[in-house]
Amino acid sequence: YDLGEFTVTEAEKRERVAGVFTSVAESYDRMNDLMSFGWHRVWKSVTLAHILDIAGGTGDIAFRMLHTAHVLNGNPSVRVTISDINRAMLTVGKQRSSQLPASQQAALSFVEANAENLTQTRPLHPYPEQAFFDPSTATSSIPDSSVDLYTVAFGIRNFSNIPAALREAHRVLKPGGVFACLEFSKADAHPLFNALYKEWSFRAIPLIGQLVAADRDSYQYLVESIERFPSQRAFRDMIVEAGFAVAGQGWEDLTGGVAAVHKGMKP
Ligand code: SAM
Repeated sequence: YDLGEFTVTEAEKRERVAGVFTSVAESYDRMNDLMSFGWHRVWKSVTLAHILDIAGGTGDIAFRMLHTAHVLNGNPSVRVTISDINRAMLTVGKQRSSQLPASQQAALSFVEANAENLTQTRPLHPYPEQAFFDPSTATSSIPDSSVDLYTVAFGIRNFSNIPAALREAHRVLKPGGVFACLEFSKADAHPLFNALYKEWSFRAIPLIGQLVAADRDSYQYLVESIERFPSQRAFRDMIVEAGFAVAGQGWEDLTGGVAAVHKGMKP
């Protein structure tokens, strides 16, 4: 590296960088404020401003992201839109959000939409006359290239047309924006664990659903929808097919593959 009159080797640079940041660590945040007149916060805010949580349901993931951005990362300009096709879920989410600090509530919005077509959305309708989103009453579209981070947790396997939802994710993300999906997946790497998991899923869960919630059918559906969802590899291929770039294999297994996080970036 040529640093003006100094030429340093890679090892020297690594050492120097390590030394600099070790010695400034304590004063780093304060100095950044002073040196940039606070602008570094604005620049960082611009870096990640709009998160779209699709199939956001009652807001669990969205509230966690908002807390991380506003409180842990000191980045209060992050906004989160919670979108879901089901008004009952969103209404519960909206009620739960009233427990959040006012600044976080102000950074949240709730919209009704089908993830497969985000050109037709509308703000959460206050009247419960109809449970599901009706596209004929839609008022607006999520614009192209307007979102920094698109998240969908335990939602995508319920979609009727997953490729269409992936194409919409790609459309609304800015170039460089990230698609992140948490979903149940295949735990077939370890046969014994997989056999136990299958027993639990197909025998125990519907039974527990019947006994505890008096609703065997819904829990049977849950288990079957997980079984029908593509493998980690096949889902990664669908993400790539929709135009995303993936790093490495494109996913990370959680709890032996019971769930997996897939990520893709819009080039
Ligand atoms: N993301 C939340 C979480 O992790 O707690 C909620 C997950 S919940 C299991 C699945 C959600 O997907 C439901 O709220 C359901 O209404 C929503 N959903 C199903 N099909 C959808 C679609 N086509 N478009 C948008 N949301 C959908």
